[in-house]
Amino acid sequence: MAQQEDVFKKLISHCKEYGFVFPSSEIYDGLGAVYDYGQNGVELKNNIKKYWWDSMVLLNENVVGIDSAIFMHPTIWKASGHVDAFNDPLIDNKDSKKRYRADVLIEELMAKLDDKINKEVEKAAKKFGDSFDEAKFRETNARVLENQAKREEIHNRFVKALNDNDLNELKQIIIDYEVVCPISGTKNWTDVRQFNLMFSTEMGSTSEGAMKVYLRPETAQGIFVNFLNVQKTGRMKVPFGIAQIGKAFRNEIVARQFIFRMREFEQMEMQFFVRPGEELEWFAKWKEIRMKWHKALGFGDNKYRFHDHDKLAHYANAATDIEFEMPFGFKEVEGIHSRTDFDLGSHEQYSGKKIQYFDPELNKSYVPYVIETSIGVDRMFLSIMAASYCEEKLENNETRVVLKLPPALAPAKAAILPLLKKEGLPERAREIMNVLKYNFKCMYDEKDTIGKRYRRQDAIGTPFCITVDHQTLTDNTVTIRHRDTMEQERVNISDLQSIISERVTISNLLKELEN
Ligand code: ATP
Repeated sequence: MAQQEDVFKKLISHCKEYGFVFPSSEIYDGLGAVYDYGQNGVELKNNIKKYWWDSMVLLNENVVGIDSAIFMHPTIWKASGHVDAFNDPLIDNKDSKKRYRADVLIEELMAKLDDKINKEVEKAAKKFGDSFDEAKFRETNARVLENQAKREEIHNRFVKALNDNDLNELKQIIIDYEVVCPISGTKNWTDVRQFNLMFSTEMGSTSEGAMKVYLRPETAQGIFVNFLNVQKTGRMKVPFGIAQIGKAFRNEIVARQFIFRMREFEQMEMQFFVRPGEELEWFAKWKEIRMKWHKALGFGDNKYRFHDHDKLAHYANAATDIEFEMPFGFKEVEGIHSRTDFDLGSHEQYSGKKIQYFDPELNKSYVPYVIETSIGVDRMFLSIMAASYCEEKLENNETRVVLKLPPALAPAKAAILPLLKKEGLPERAREIMNVLKYNFKCMYDEKDTIGKRYRRQDAIGTPFCITVDHQTLTDNTVTIRHRDTMEQERVNISDLQSIISERVTISNLLKELEN
């Protein structure tokens, strides 16, 4: 664990040192849980968004996009339930004065018990070797059984407390299982209180009578309130989907995990409208499609898992998360929810407008059901950086830091490097760059030794380094170095375009999704 925390710390400083992510307002000592993306970060982020957007609106004829405003009529947030129920249960430690989410403390408690159980199993597996029967061990080992029973008891109490909205019981679980504050080490807790996560501001001048408006905490509502606009103007037939990428804002209670939990972040959401009764079939389909999208990046299937929700929101009839193994454990990156007709139905009620679809095949009107896929760009960014960050020992005993980013997502696709800063090499290198730059983000670098320049590109994940040397001037060939293997080959300049494009275009990644 300590080692993993170490990796996480290194990753955060790497993000800063190489222009991926900076703390917001840094010269004023930063602003809690708000971050800026630097020159490389913005490219990676844009590529992630493009991969998602294209997978939605290019691969699915029946999914179209919108871009709705961040400010919306305040009644929308009443109808969606956010004004009354977008709360997190918070608890303070009286000694450290640190604030926590009570539900997260309890989830961490359960995760610790899981860890204990798994360690016990691993130990036994090592001891008994091939003859080890894991299932039997789990059924019979006293320590495993004891921890399992404890975990189940906590889990049952936790789910019931959440469902009953029983804040006293949440505190009682924390007391009964002696959860301590990681900072002060004490059990001196306040009561659990609800805290609404929406930011609000005033719209209009006070003389006209200002209106309280919210910064949207999710992009989804912009889709629901445009359902009829898109359906009618696009002549969309159910089933169909509307996709949107945009900023969302949440006044998160605890924000100590870099860009995992931010107060201003970006979401990529798609709401898929289906016939009532067909929603669970579509839920299963979208689960599969979305998992494939993640796995196509090639980090290894074991990095992902589904986690079904313990507590379903009152309007949902199925919900799962796609979790990714971050340096601090498996964490939610994407949520997939079957939201029934709650949102459209509720907007019908609050707006007094009919929000229905006439289904020509069934010859009747209904409020469509909705499957939602919702993923955070920033969490996706973090998962990709974490999975790509590598420290490699080289043969000469040096270490190189390399970001093994999927080439389609890398900020720059190629670096053009003249071996020397003279003798016509820079000019030839510029000529090559001027051809490639229309299709790929390229970098030009002539400073320092070639080895140092390779390292700089490794550190930002550039898949190809193209070196221009004296031979280039005579036979129009260059060396191309591959980031992951560090292998170099001599190729014709005229082949560069196709060699690079084969590996780095998002369309090739999209084709994998259709296989
Ligand atoms: P959590 O339980 O971690 O607070 P959530 O279940 O509230 O997340 P959703 O409301 O389902 O999250 O939001 C969908 C996605 O938006 C999440 O899977 C996550 O990727 C992203 N997201 C949500 N809150 C944040 C945040 N504060 N910072 C960054 N990304 C976020």
